[in-house]
Amino acid sequence: MTRHDELQARLRAVRERIDLAAAAAGREDRVELVVVTKFFPASDVRILADLGVSDVGENRHQEAEAKAADVGDLSLRWHFIGALQSNKAAAVARYSHVVESVDRTSLVSRLARGAGESERRLDVLLQVSLDPPGADHRAGADPDDLAGLAENVAAAPELSLRGLMAVAPLGEDPVVAFDRLAGIRQRFVQQFPTATLLSAGMSGDLEAAITVGATHVRVGSAVLGSRVHVQ
Ligand SMILES: *Cc1c(COP(=O)(O)O)cnc(C)c1O
Repeated sequence: MTRHDELQARLRAVRERIDLAAAAAGREDRVELVVVTKFFPASDVRILADLGVSDVGENRHQEAEAKAADVGDLSLRWHFIGALQSNKAAAVARYSHVVESVDRTSLVSRLARGAGESERRLDVLLQVSLDPPGADHRAGADPDDLAGLAENVAAAPELSLRGLMAVAPLGEDPVVAFDRLAGIRQRFVQQFPTATLLSAGMSGDLEAAITVGATHVRVGSAVLGSRVHVQ
């Protein structure tokens, strides 16, 4: 089997899972697929584009920057989904179309500067932590800090506040975690009615995310295969 055939078959299976979950949830809106290409080569990105993929996600700046440049002839939307270092934020904003992992106010002016330099409006999702209160927080803003962060993003003309992103915590049933996310999102959209996007769900839990209203799922290994072989 060629790599093209392999990716085509896996992509088809993932799209079927998305369609089934959307139908089961009675969703009439579209659920967008972001294929997470971290650890995989630009040649795979090219195949994915050929197979109709429009959105790709990366979580490490250096790798993302190099890959985006490698396939700069393709009209893909690049989503940055990884932990953002402050000193890299402006650079990330230069090649990204969407930054999904904005979790603190100190990133805002840096992202705005990078977006301004590329003369493009940058879509921003705020990453919210789903860890229970008191847990050692992984990436993501505390739900109580979202409104303040959102106001900062909304005030930057180079940035467009589009919604929220979350990752289900390890060791917790994603159905339970995403249920919490649905409540957080409902309150958020009441305050920021145009920020309706919700990026949640990965290879293992995309169905649970679609059930609670994810508009974007971020799927890596189910499309590209296991990352252990390429790390
Ligand atoms: C790697 C990654 C994904 C994709 O994970 P898979 O389990 O391979 O689908 C999604 N979201 C984030 C933030 C990631 O870092």
